Amino acid sequence: ADARPRDIDTSLLRNWPLPMPSDDTDKEGRGHVLVLGGSSEMPGAVILAATAAMRAGAGKLTIATGRSVAQLVALAIPESRVLGLAENAVGGFTVEAVEALDPLADKITAILIGPGMQDEEATARLVHALLPRLQGSDTRILLDANAMGAILHPPAGVNAPFRFDVPVLVTPHAGEMAHLTGIDKEDICATPDRHALEAAQRWNAVVALKGARTVIAASSGERWQHEGGNVGLAASGSGDVLAGIIAGLAARGADLAQAVGWGVAMHARAGERLAERMGTLGYLARELPDEIPALLQQTA
Ligand code: AMP
Ligand code: MG
Repeated sequence: ADARPRDIDTSLLRNWPLPMPSDDTDKEGRGHVLVLGGSSEMPGAVILAATAAMRAGAGKLTIATGRSVAQLVALAIPESRVLGLAENAVGGFTVEAVEALDPLADKITAILIGPGMQDEEATARLVHALLPRLQGSDTRILLDANAMGAILHPPAGVNAPFRFDVPVLVTPHAGEMAHLTGIDKEDICATPDRHALEAAQRWNAVVALKGARTVIAASSGERWQHEGGNVGLAASGSGDVLAGIIAGLAARGADLAQAVGWGVAMHARAGERLAERMGTLGYLARELPDEIPALLQQTA
């Protein structure tokens, strides 16, 4: 487990080909992503993530978001089906949302929870209500942003330290990692490889610790790293796009490690392409997804 993380570079990706649909595949066969998130203050996060999932090649998209913003989200992404969920007073979803999502459970191939969600505790309750319903299914599960608070707020009766009992990917940046572990951010940034691995083993999850250099660790002890992109990616919405790309790749059938490895690389290269055309500072997160189809084609 002390081996240096493997570099995610062109040769690694070439030897790790993504599942590809055949020419006669229909949209069901191309994977169905559910993005659960958004709130009146941050409806844009689900729009970014959901767009990125489609750009990464998923065939179908359902968005579950707050009732107050469902119509505007639907208008922003005409390709989506949008479910409006009941919201509590502070912008979180109530656990009844689980029932609204139940009919989808056996149809979706990947679920991304977290972009733009408010109320960490309500989000954690919702995550803990949803995960058992996905147990035994092949649905890939990604937790980002506030949904990672499920680690801090385990279900009643579960003792710390919390461990997932279904395969999940979590994608914290250093600040979120500090929040989730109680370790100083400086300490996390000083030894990210160690902290990513320790978290992966403690939580039984695939952990992508994001930054200018991103370290990915699996509970098996496997680790990867990626250094690339540019400081233009350090901007609001960038992580939502990354989460969406990963969800789209996972929906197509990539396992969590492959989806996050490819996703991190494609996200960084999208930033590099935009920087070449527009300049390093000032391109927008919403411009990243448009770069993805060509990048996937080049690298495949
Ligand atoms: P988030 O903090 O959730 O919005 O995610 C930010 C995304 O941008 C992550 O994928 C980071 O790896 C990436 N990122 C942030 N800062 C940099 C940087 N200076 N250089 C390259 N990538 C970065
Ligand atoms: Mg984020």
